[in-house]
Amino acid sequence: MIPVIALVGRPNVGKSTLFNQLTRSRDALVADLPGLTRDRQYGIGRVGGFPYMVVDTGGLSGEDATMDAAMAQQTRQAIREADLVLLLVDARSGLTAQDQAIASDLRAEGVRALLVANKTDGLDIDSATAEFHALGLGAIAPIAAAHGRGVSQLMQRVHDAL
Ligand code: GDP
Ligand code: MG
Repeated sequence: MIPVIALVGRPNVGKSTLFNQLTRSRDALVADLPGLTRDRQYGIGRVGGFPYMVVDTGGLSGEDATMDAAMAQQTRQAIREADLVLLLVDARSGLTAQDQAIASDLRAEGVRALLVANKTDGLDIDSATAEFHALGLGAIAPIAAAHGRGVSQLMQRVHDAL
C-alpha cells in the first residue's frame, strides 16, 4: 500500500502551499482567505523514488461558531486515513489555542506526527520555533513552503519515519 501523509493545521498555516510543493500540482486552492479549501485534496508525491499519497485538509465553513467542530472533524478523518500526519504551524503568528487543540487530538489518538513550522522565511528559525516545543511533538521541521525551502529535508524525515 502507498503510504498516506496528511497535512493538518489551522487555517492559513500553508497546508495547500505545501501540498502543491509536494505534489507539484495546482489542484489545491491556495488563497489568502483562510479555510478556502473546503474538501480534502489528494495528490501523489515521491521521495527517494518512493511514491506516497498526500492529503490536504481544509473543510472549514468560515463561520466562527462551527469552525472548531469542522476542523476537529477534518483532522479526525485525516488522522484515520493517514500513516503519518504533518501538523503545520505558522512561525510568523506563533503558537495558538487551535494549534494546541489539534496537537492534543494527535497525541490522544497516538498517531505518528511530525511538527512542521512554516513561513520561516526571513525569521531566525531557532527563536521563531522555540515556543512550538510546548506542543509536545518532538523535533520541529522548519520550512518556507511558498519558497520550497526545507521541503526536501522535511520529506527525508518523512521517509525515515515511514
Ligand atoms: P492553508 O489555509 O493552511 O491551506 O494555507 P495556504 O496554503 O492557503 O496559505 C495561506 C497563506 O500563507 C497564503 O497567503 C500563502 O501565500 C501564505 N504562505 C504559505 N506558505 C508561506 C511561506 O512559506 N512563507 C510565507 N511568508 N507565506 C506563506
Ligand atoms: Mg488550504
